[in-house]
Amino acid sequence: KAMDKDAAIRSTDSDAAQARLSAVNKGYFPDDIFIQHLVQRARFVPPRPPLINIGTFVRSTAIDALVNAWIHLSPQVQIVSLGAGSDTRYFRLANAGKLPSIAHYVELDFPENTSRKAAAIFRNDVLGRHVLDRTIHQGGMELRSKHYTLLPVDLRGPPSSTLGPLLASGTLQRSIPTLFISECVFVYMPSSASNAIVRWFAESFDIVGGLVYEMFGLTDSFGTVMRSNLMSRNVDLPGVDAYPTLSSQSTRFTHEQFSHATSLTLKTIRQKYISPSELDRIATLEMLDEIEELELVLEHYVISWGVKVAPDSQAECAAF
Ligand code: SAM
Repeated sequence: KAMDKDAAIRSTDSDAAQARLSAVNKGYFPDDIFIQHLVQRARFVPPRPPLINIGTFVRSTAIDALVNAWIHLSPQVQIVSLGAGSDTRYFRLANAGKLPSIAHYVELDFPENTSRKAAAIFRNDVLGRHVLDRTIHQGGMELRSKHYTLLPVDLRGPPSSTLGPLLASGTLQRSIPTLFISECVFVYMPSSASNAIVRWFAESFDIVGGLVYEMFGLTDSFGTVMRSNLMSRNVDLPGVDAYPTLSSQSTRFTHEQFSHATSLTLKTIRQKYISPSELDRIATLEMLDEIEELELVLEHYVISWGVKVAPDSQAECAAF
């Protein structure tokens, strides 16, 4: 039974990847040439409704902006993507010439998911040319290279054994500013486990950034519908009620030694932070007639980010 539950969690990655592919196919992300190489039977993936495409666009645009802000903070950074699934961010950053600023990029997921991705990177040159010196380990579950590592772990385990080896092996270094990304991942684990991960990052690096994207506030009437849709697909969401409000989302960070944190819903991000020219551009891609429904959905998704810096270096991270 536990196996079935984990299979359901792992399969949420195909949903995320297919949603991205759908948005790419519609022209929302003209720059992502990589996702088609990570989605199985990509040619047969049906388009998602406009509302989903727009949500995917807003989420990804905001996270990209925060990751870019982090990269520009200092000459070298490290990035750790938790539950990375089929995410293409590493390849898009590489394609945009950002690799010189990234000392190491780590992606973690369940072994079944890392095996699929490792195989795709290993055999496909569109992906593989950005991971030049790649080698495969652990029977294909792990892929390593000088600046990119894909590692099979169950993130619900103690961070000292899931993440600790990255420091012990020298893959990551304490002195390099390190950003962790949890894009739609923490809801699938108990908050005791996700809090332990946040704490591990705070304690393991001198300068740390954290970026969490997830659904939240599923207790109002619209949220209840969203919740039962998810439940009907047999996906457990043990972490979904841990931080039910915008302000509590920020305390996820500040309770674990982070200096400050900010949380915004996708609704607010779309209204205030996506440039008018981008909104105009995506408005031409397809018809959306239900703006109210869009906003109801977007206000149940939150991006929160926090920074932990040494007390005397607050200014350094002001831009994040
Ligand atoms: N972050 C990617 C994105 O946004 O496109 C994938 C998101 S997908 C909804 C959730 C991912 O988290 C899946 O790939 C799943 O396998 C992974 N995940 C969830 N719980 C995990 C755990 N305990 N250990 C490792 N990976 C986990």
